[in-house]
Amino acid sequence: MAISKYAFEQGPIRPPSESNSLLLRLTRNCPWNRCLFCPVYKGKEFSRRSLEEIKSDIEAAADAAEKIKELSHTLGYGGEINRRTAAMVQSEHPELFQVAFWLFHGGENVFLQDADSLLLPVSQVTEILSCIKERFPTVKRITTYARSRTLLRRSVEDFKQLKEAGLNRIHVGLESGNDEVLELMQKGVSGAQHIEAGKRVKASGISLSEYVILGLGGVKLWRAHALDTARVLNEINPDFIRVRTLAVPASSPLYNKIQQGGFEPLTDDDVVREEALMIENLEGIESHFYSDHILNLLEEVNGKLPRDKPDMQEVINRYLSMPETQREQFRLGRRTGYYRTLADMENGALKKPVERIYNKLQKDNVPVDDYIKQVMLRYI
Ligand code: SF4
Repeated sequence: MAISKYAFEQGPIRPPSESNSLLLRLTRNCPWNRCLFCPVYKGKEFSRRSLEEIKSDIEAAADAAEKIKELSHTLGYGGEINRRTAAMVQSEHPELFQVAFWLFHGGENVFLQDADSLLLPVSQVTEILSCIKERFPTVKRITTYARSRTLLRRSVEDFKQLKEAGLNRIHVGLESGNDEVLELMQKGVSGAQHIEAGKRVKASGISLSEYVILGLGGVKLWRAHALDTARVLNEINPDFIRVRTLAVPASSPLYNKIQQGGFEPLTDDDVVREEALMIENLEGIESHFYSDHILNLLEEVNGKLPRDKPDMQEVINRYLSMPETQREQFRLGRRTGYYRTLADMENGALKKPVERIYNKLQKDNVPVDDYIKQVMLRYI
């Protein structure tokens, strides 16, 4: 089958906050690829894409955007990408849909893939950023993932140059601030290196988003994980802290470690206690805290620190002080997609189906948490 002239390459993942962004692939897969908890690129080799390949992808996306606008004109919408234009593109020109979806959501954000784009020389990334800005003048935000170890190869001046060229935000997988946890999980970086890398990004004025994995310390290291992660975050003072709860699919090396008794995961309730300890110890920072990942039990633990810390703690305390059966039912409702907030438990229309599943599990003698574990793997 002939490849469409509008086709361009995309990698498998992006942060939740980039769900409406145009995804452009600078490198393929992960140059490190050893983290035990991460199944995303296992078995796939890392490679850098050439400047020509990347520029040709930007051209393909720009051509697609022009074609979509033409289609909108023929539909009488004057170039506007509204719901009807997007629906028509989806049914009649599926090869254009990705770009139509992006334009429908404003066409303002771009995310550079895959796991560690800043491994490319600064001059090359700068050229790519300029090319994006030139071909898409509507773009307001360009962001990327990067490893702290890679960031340490760049100076504050390098980051300033990238910022000048249009890089607005860097998403870093901090995962933990505790060295024992980082070593156990083969993250390939220490807490001190996370701090130094984060500080350099902050000093350049590029916005910094740090990702934490709740539950990564397991039963043995949960306390150290919570306290050291808070300490490292306090040192960095990132613009954003985003949490994501550990879930272990069979395709991740951590799964085997668990089978061999080398790691004991926390229960959902213990993860919430760990999160409470971390939040309690977040001090002197002005980060936005987000729980915007489907794997998190308490999605409403969000806010601007330090202002909203009491509200965030109140949500956690409210959950932990509920009776066991109610907590179990909330977990079930959350994991099956009926509940998003604790208040949803008061909504009869949402509560009924959850109770039905709960009663069936009781009848079949299936432990609720075993069922939940299976459901959670669908979200990875
Ligand atoms: S550095 Fe990131 S993408 Fe690479 S293995 Fe670790 S978690 Fe996965």
